[in-house]
Amino acid sequence: MSQSLASVAYIGATILFILSLGGLSNPESSRRGNLYGMIGMTIAVLATVLGPRVTAGGIPWIIAAMVAGGGIGLYAARTVQMTQMPELVALMHSLVGLAAMLVGFATYIDPSASSEFSGAAKAIHEMEIYVGILIGAVTFSGSVIAFGKLSGKIGGKPLLLPARHWMNLAGLLIVIYFGREFLHAESMSDGMKPLVVMTVIALLFGIHMVMAIGGADMPVVVSMLNSYSGWAAAATGFMLSNDLLIVVGALVGSSGAILSYIMCNAMNRNFISVIAGGFGTSGGTPAAAGAQPAGEVAPILAAETAELLREAKNVIIVPGYGMAVAQAQHTVYEITKYLREKGVNVRFGIHPVAGRMPGHMNVLLAEARVPYDIVMEMDEINEDFPKTDVAMVIGANDIVNPAAQDDPTSPIAGMPVLEVWKAKTSIVMKRSMASGYAGVDNPLFYKENNRMLFGDAKMMLDEVLTALKA
Ligand code: NDP
Repeated sequence: MSQSLASVAYIGATILFILSLGGLSNPESSRRGNLYGMIGMTIAVLATVLGPRVTAGGIPWIIAAMVAGGGIGLYAARTVQMTQMPELVALMHSLVGLAAMLVGFATYIDPSASSEFSGAAKAIHEMEIYVGILIGAVTFSGSVIAFGKLSGKIGGKPLLLPARHWMNLAGLLIVIYFGREFLHAESMSDGMKPLVVMTVIALLFGIHMVMAIGGADMPVVVSMLNSYSGWAAAATGFMLSNDLLIVVGALVGSSGAILSYIMCNAMNRNFISVIAGGFGTSGGTPAAAGAQPAGEVAPILAAETAELLREAKNVIIVPGYGMAVAQAQHTVYEITKYLREKGVNVRFGIHPVAGRMPGHMNVLLAEARVPYDIVMEMDEINEDFPKTDVAMVIGANDIVNPAAQDDPTSPIAGMPVLEVWKAKTSIVMKRSMASGYAGVDNPLFYKENNRMLFGDAKMMLDEVLTALKA
């Protein structure tokens, strides 16, 4: 394939990626967005593999790598549970970081690349390598720790080392100092030392940054690492002088940054304090004794729940992580359909950080074919709870915790929540009194108008549906 044809293919792929992002911004157009992305990526891969920069001898290696990588990807996509998606995504981000690191080192030791540049161009090229490896290393180690935290292999509590901000600052200064050393290195072996030192510091910084982040801040970290993986890909594009990779990396990087901003707003947090860590820790800000939830919880049976739903005019369903664990979305849809046919106004209230990844609940409800027009964002529906007869909370906990509003000493104080307790009756469906991801007690369970429907969400909802239809 000639250079000009490859360039045209790259422009076509770039346009498709932009259309893809546009499509993914809305549930109704998201399938189309995905399709554009898939076509764009196919064009991008073909134009690169068949392009002028790949020699015939390289093709078998590329095919072998694509078969191996594609096979692993296909296997993971087919076997991974919906609840494991967030950790899979974190693992994928780590691979982008690892690739940026490896490409950086390979580019540095590539003899043809070093003889290609001189003077200012050489300095810029080396700068690209240094920054590329730096971003790649932070993304790699940070994403591996995020994977551990999301999969429960590493505890959710933040690791708060003494003088941690000073340690980060010292790390930054060392990285800048060695960057200067690297640019002034006379030979490749001289340059290797600062490069390796910086890589080790960047890896440690990535680990430290994510370890210091408490449970409730993880959504911001997930989207932030998504953004970093984009910048790592863009840095790889600079090192390889591949325009398409630069553009795609910048698209992922900036959309991830916007998502992080949205997540910060949703949590009522500012970005710097998230990075500084420590939110959502039971060790950091113990709740005042008087603020501990007290009293007795009132259990309810599935048949009684069905009775309340049948008599209700307005129902709001609030799904959370437990709905994903129980895979209860299809039964939720059946109940919604039944109630709507009986004239009950059923709507969904979606918290921006419900579940374990951005848009988690929307994906599940769309999969179960719940109509989009009854799925509302938190801000759209929060003021309707006082006019609601039944608020049904399905496997959610942190996102409906009134302590975020009432208890300034709570570790999640200030986080906006869905005000389900303002409904005439709220019903919380979960298996036990266990706390949610942030590890915080929930006073909602003890409120007078709240009922607890204990059990697996899918089993309980099946019983509710049977009772409704009886
Ligand atoms: P939570 O983790 O707060 O609560 C989920 C609840 O579901 C648990 O209390 C659990 O209680 C219950 N549950 C689990 N399995 C089942 C089941 N099979 N049937 C019924 N209930 C079940 O989830 P929320 O969605 O309320 O809040 C999300 C939390 O995750 C927030 O703290 C958020 O910050 C964090 N987070 C979000 C991310 C995102 O991007 N959305 C990413 C990372 C973290 P029990 O064990 O008693 O059943």
